[in-house]
Amino acid sequence: MTIAVYPGSFDPVTLGHQDIIERTAQIMDHVIIGVLKNNSKSPLFSVEDRVKMLESVTSHLDNVSIQSFDGLLVDFVHQNHAQVIVRGLRAVTDFEYELQLAQTNRVIAPDIDTIFLTTNLKYSYLSSSIVKEIADYQGDISGFLSPGIARLVREKLSKERKNEQQD
Ligand code: ADP
Repeated sequence: MTIAVYPGSFDPVTLGHQDIIERTAQIMDHVIIGVLKNNSKSPLFSVEDRVKMLESVTSHLDNVSIQSFDGLLVDFVHQNHAQVIVRGLRAVTDFEYELQLAQTNRVIAPDIDTIFLTTNLKYSYLSSSIVKEIADYQGDISGFLSPGIARLVREKLSKERKNEQQD
């Protein structure tokens, strides 16, 4: 049984992430989405909210589960008896960082391999941070996120704006 871990911040999950998840689920026996808890970027959504959002957009996929994790990715992979790490590659700009990450992980855990799925061309420009930036200026984010996720992002940012106005 081949188990893959797809790690990331997913702050929030975009259609680009969803595309990678669906394609990985077709190739692997089981996919565990690992939601990173301790992120140097300060996230918009708590890890619990990010897990819930991922659960809602993957509920139709039987062989996908979601977990949050903290610490070394390779430890999380071992704990879950997975053999493969999956990452998405958008453009050349992703490549250098991803190569370094994959090579480092391979040195510390030679039994784990990283595989890359190239992005669907439709989403090659898309990142969670771009979506947050557009939403922050109250732009239309409906082409980038599932409808339920887009609503949560709008609600969250409008709450934050109200809190800022009160301060
Ligand atoms: P991280 O902070 O680890 O980069 P992200 O949530 O930004 O976490 O991304 C998780 C993974 O999904 C990474 O491998 C990233 O390259 C990939 N990814 C992000 N956006 C897209 C997209 N639009 N298309 C394909 N892969 C993507």
